[in-house]
Amino acid sequence: MARYNGPVCRLCRREGMKLFLKGERCYTEKCAIEKRNVPPGQHGRSRKAKMVGYAIQLREKQKVKRIYGVLEDQFRGYFEQAERTRGITGETLLQLLERRLDNAVYRLGFATSRPQARQLVRHGHFLVNGKKVDIPSYSVKVGDVVTVRETSRANASILHAVEEVKGRGIPEWLSLAGEMEGRIVSVPTREQINLPVQEQLIVELYSK
Ligand code: SF4
Repeated sequence: MARYNGPVCRLCRREGMKLFLKGERCYTEKCAIEKRNVPPGQHGRSRKAKMVGYAIQLREKQKVKRIYGVLEDQFRGYFEQAERTRGITGETLLQLLERRLDNAVYRLGFATSRPQARQLVRHGHFLVNGKKVDIPSYSVKVGDVVTVRETSRANASILHAVEEVKGRGIPEWLSLAGEMEGRIVSVPTREQINLPVQEQLIVELYSK
């Protein structure tokens, strides 16, 4: 399936919540959810009211896919990996998604949104343990060090993001060493992932 290239605020309105896809705009009153939290389309409002069973599970999956910006096949792959891993499948699924390099870059404050983080990673602005990694889905592990490349430290998007997210802080499973380097301190716990999603519904959807 192709990547969605339409208006991203529409995705938030479809899910009825902020997915934080547009960086700083998401924290202002210009956010579409702040202005008009109604599902898109002529029958959006009534469609939401009628949701039951399968539809609710499906929406929960779509929500998580959209938050992390992954496509269906990739998402299914994460789920299968989570199923094979010891532990609670839904929680493991979120941990796998959270450990994507683009997400870690976003969480460390080197990008204002996950879509921007994905683009910056693709453009080769980051090192992991001293080596250039330009694969957004690269899975970081405990002890890894993510660094902005020396040649990218004047990059306007990164500098702007560092300033922009300074006040928001970073999750406890990460730590910063200066402004341009971060470390993976631990595997993120469910509480630290801090997303308003019911991952159990995704497990139920895929277990049918
Ligand atoms: Fe979603 Fe951000 Fe658009 Fe608000 S501004 S609707 S959070 S993408």
